Amino acid sequence: MNNQQVPIFITGPFRQLLTMDHLTLKGSLKDAQLEIIEEAGVVHQNGIILEIGLFGELCTKYNSAHPEIQYLESDMIALPGFVDAHTHLCWAGSRENDYAMRLEGKSYTEIAQSGGGIWDTVTKTRNATDEELKMLLKMRADRQLANGITTCEVKSGYALNPEGEIRLLEIIKSANKEHSIDLVSTCLAAHIKPKDFEGGTDTYLEFLADKLLPVIKKEKLTNRIDIFVEEGAFGVQEAGKYLSEAKKMGFDLVVHGEQFTSGGVSLAVKVGAKSVDHLEMIGDKAIVELADSAVVAMALPGASIGLGCQFAPARKLLNAGCCLAIGSDWNPGSAPMGDLLLQTAILGTFEKLTNAEQLSAITFRAAHALNLNDRGILKKGYMADFLGFPGRNYQEILYQQGMMKPTMVWKRGNLVM
Ligand SMILES: [Zn+2]
Repeated sequence: MNNQQVPIFITGPFRQLLTMDHLTLKGSLKDAQLEIIEEAGVVHQNGIILEIGLFGELCTKYNSAHPEIQYLESDMIALPGFVDAHTHLCWAGSRENDYAMRLEGKSYTEIAQSGGGIWDTVTKTRNATDEELKMLLKMRADRQLANGITTCEVKSGYALNPEGEIRLLEIIKSANKEHSIDLVSTCLAAHIKPKDFEGGTDTYLEFLADKLLPVIKKEKLTNRIDIFVEEGAFGVQEAGKYLSEAKKMGFDLVVHGEQFTSGGVSLAVKVGAKSVDHLEMIGDKAIVELADSAVVAMALPGASIGLGCQFAPARKLLNAGCCLAIGSDWNPGSAPMGDLLLQTAILGTFEKLTNAEQLSAITFRAAHALNLNDRGILKKGYMADFLGFPGRNYQEILYQQGMMKPTMVWKRGNLVM
C-alpha cells in the first residue's frame, strides 16, 4: 500500500492542546514556557503525527487528501500519552497483609519472617502459569492505558533464576504484542539474591552475568539491565562490576539507588546509566553530580506513599539542573497503588513543581529515560499517542490531583479508550 491509500485522520478540535515541545530536557520549567494551541487539531497517518495546528486550517489544508475527520463534540484538552518509565507489573499474588503489618509498626524482618516480603511474591510468581502471569500483566496494562499511559516500562525480577527471569521477559514480550500499550521490558534479575542461591551476592551477580545476560542478548528479550543498589540487596562495588559486564554486551543500564542509603547515584553516573531511580535519600553532593551528568533522575512517589517515607527532593533536583522523570514503581510490595498521575500531583504539591515540570516528568523526560525519542511530544514525525481530558483549561488536570482521568486515549493514532 502506498501512502496515498493509507487514510489520513484529523482529530479535533481540542479547546487546548499542549505540545510539550520546545522545552529543555533538563532543569526547571515555568508554565509560561508551555506551547498551548487553542482549537487545535492533530493530523495523523499510520500512527504518526503529520501536523499539529489549528483544526479549521488543517481541515482546509488536507481537504484534497479526503481525511477522516474525528470531530470532538465536547470540550477536550489534549496532551501527549503518558510514559511510566518504572514499574514491576509482572507478578502474581498480593501483599495486603505486609501493608497491614507495616501499619502496625512491624519491621521488614518481622514481615519476612511471617511469610511476607519479596520472597512471597517470588514464590507465587514462580508457581504461576505463563497464562496467569500474562493475564495479570495485561489487566494491569489495561488500567495503565485507562489512566493515560501509552508506554509502560515493566521489570522482571520476581523469578530470580535464569530460567524464570527469561520466562518473565518472554511473557512481557508476548503481552506487548497482544496489547495496544507499548511495554518496554527491563531485566531486574539483580533485585535481591534469592534465598535458594548458594553463595554470596557477588557470586550471584557473576552467575547472572555468565548464565543469564548472554541469553537475553542473543534472544533479544530486552536491551535494559537494572540492579537494586541498597543495603540488603547489592553493594556499590559488585553492582559496578555487573553493570560494566552488561555494558560491554551492549545493554542500556538502570540503577535503583539512594532509596535508603547512598552510593547508587555515583555508580549510575560512573557507568553511564540511562536513569537512577528512587533518590529519596540523595544528598546535595550527589545532586550536583547527577545534574552534571546525562543520567535521568527518576522520582518514585508511589514508593514513598506506600512505605510512608519521604519523597525524593524533586525541587532541588530540578533547581540543580537534573532531568526529572516520575515513575509509578507499581509493585506488590512498596507501591501497590499504581496511579502515576495521582502520584505525580501529590509529589508536585509537596515539592512545589510547576504544571510544566510535572507533565514533562511523565511525557518526554520519561521517554528520554527509556531512550525513546519518538514520543512524549506532539509534533510532526512523533508517534500519534495522545490523550483527551474533559475541560477547557489544562491547569484543571493537576488541580484535580489525579482524580481527573483522560476520557479518550489514542495509541498510534487508534482510539483505544
Ligand atoms: Zn522499582
